[in-house]
Amino acid sequence: MTLLQISEPENQDNKILKRNLSIGIDLGTTNSLVAFVNNSLKPEIICDDNGHPLIPSVVNYSSKEFVVGKDALKLLDDVNTISSFKRFMGVSIEEINENFPTYNFVSENNILKIHTKSFNITPVEISADLLSYLKKLAENKLHEKINDAVITVPAYFDERQRQATRDAANLAGLNVLRLLNEPTAAAIAYGLENSTDGTHVVFDLGGGTFDISIVKLHDGIFDVLSTFGNTTLGGNDFDEAIANYITSLAINKNISCKDKRNILIKSKFIREFLTNNENCEFKIVLENGHAICGSMDHILFKKISEPLLNKIKICVHQAIKDSRLDIKEDILNIVMVGGATRMPIIRELVVDIFNKEPLINIDPDKVVSLGAALQADRLVNNNHIENNWLLMDVTPLSLGIETMGGLFEKIVPRNSKIPILVKQEFTTMKNNQRSMSIHVLQGESDLVTECRSLAYFELNDIPPMLSGIPRIEVIFQIDADGLLQVSARETTKNIESRIVVKPSNGLTNEEIRLMIQKNSLSRDNGFNRLLLEKQLELQKLIATIEDAVNQDPYVISENELSNIKNLLIEAKKYIHDSNINLIESIINDLSTKTENFAILRMNYHIRNSLFKKNILDI
Ligand code: ADP
Ligand code: MG
Repeated sequence: MTLLQISEPENQDNKILKRNLSIGIDLGTTNSLVAFVNNSLKPEIICDDNGHPLIPSVVNYSSKEFVVGKDALKLLDDVNTISSFKRFMGVSIEEINENFPTYNFVSENNILKIHTKSFNITPVEISADLLSYLKKLAENKLHEKINDAVITVPAYFDERQRQATRDAANLAGLNVLRLLNEPTAAAIAYGLENSTDGTHVVFDLGGGTFDISIVKLHDGIFDVLSTFGNTTLGGNDFDEAIANYITSLAINKNISCKDKRNILIKSKFIREFLTNNENCEFKIVLENGHAICGSMDHILFKKISEPLLNKIKICVHQAIKDSRLDIKEDILNIVMVGGATRMPIIRELVVDIFNKEPLINIDPDKVVSLGAALQADRLVNNNHIENNWLLMDVTPLSLGIETMGGLFEKIVPRNSKIPILVKQEFTTMKNNQRSMSIHVLQGESDLVTECRSLAYFELNDIPPMLSGIPRIEVIFQIDADGLLQVSARETTKNIESRIVVKPSNGLTNEEIRLMIQKNSLSRDNGFNRLLLEKQLELQKLIATIEDAVNQDPYVISENELSNIKNLLIEAKKYIHDSNINLIESIINDLSTKTENFAILRMNYHIRNSLFKKNILDI
């Protein structure tokens, strides 16, 4: 009897291997990491050839072949090894200031480049080189070509910085599935979507930046309520605090550049050593032969770090204030992100502020990339998601357009959840106005001059109508990556014009902070948008009456006409007055005293239009 053949059941592993592979990348200022979701559906970091998970975000260009990470650092070539380039993403040459690392910057066709021995290179290209290194690392490990990636960005990155990140990824041959906010990625890594509804804090202290985000979970949906931070506050600043202390101990103050560098390296070592030890002895021999000896314990470290800890506290309180939460009662978890949160003084500070132990079970420097990998995997393999959760992020600054008198009209307020679509109607300023210039801005002030211009576009062919009659619908649409599209539509004739905002000149993170700060200050100082609006109302009323006087002077007596003209001369003196009540009373006075003129004018025009018409034609 011949036996029937039964084939081997398909290996479970093979089945899983057929999943589409994708990677999650934490493109950090100090370190970058790449991760993927393995066959057990767990996120896993891909290490470099020496088994290191953290790839220093540095690239060396001393020869045609660029060198990335630890190998670049080993070259000890300060001039051609570029670090912290994430801070230059989407920044123009005019925006470089003392807060940025010092490189030999050049401007080519108004594009910011860094001069190296081999060539001048843009921050986007440097990021692309780092990203292609990470892509290759993943391909070698997974033995497969990788195209799709989720890349994380700070939550407050503006349109321009997001676009620059996207451009870098495309240059590296990566298809960006999603730009994911770093705090959101951390929340995913902790699987907070599976916890009970509530609010979580993501506290991220990296090498050079501090970010705090308040994330809310409701019915499996994440929502970033607010974000705040400081772009010049990170582990490096704590290193500097130690370095300053060590320098202050030197008897001979003649300290060379090389000494300074050595002290800083030693300071970083001391700080990281203190994470797991009570005390650190040090001895640094200077070039002049003198030695600086001492020791540092937690108490001393905390004392010299006090100003930095205070800065962190200020950011935390601002974020809490923005989210309108009660700091002690409303927060379920505090997620620690960033290598510098390993410092015990930071953990103490967090417990002190929130009265709660933070979550630290996932490595703080890996958590973002692990979350990014999970998100990437979910986006390319939708079929195996049981929890079909959504993630929402927020806009870091308000977006809107310029209106009459240089006022900024906010259409999408700061901290709005994205993706978002907001419509608002506007109208023309002049009779028979045929086109309208739409000026898209980003910022927190009521004044256009204090906001950042993102783009201009025009809406033409508006049908001729009296001012105030046309309805122009302006739509702001921000996609899940934070990219903005603005369109304007004249609703009677359905004429449309649109623009995708890819600003060449956006904001630096520091500017975002400053704008937010300045706005809350100006609000505190009683800066008055209402006043500006009243001044404009008066200007408009004067212009309308002047128009009417010029068109129909004969409908009223000469005496009344001269009274109105005098009223106009008098009213014009107050169009820039800062007394809002006075302006208001002038508007009322002008309206009342020209009422008779308006009625007579209207009657005159009605009579004219009816003249010689048969009653049946009307
Ligand atoms: P970024 O997000 O800026 O790329 P990371 O999250 O990789 O930065 O954090 C880098 C910072 O973490 C550095 O300042 C480093 O000194 C600090 N760090 C790493 N490990 C430790 C440690 N064990 N103790 C204290 N600080 C640490
Ligand atoms: Mg980071």
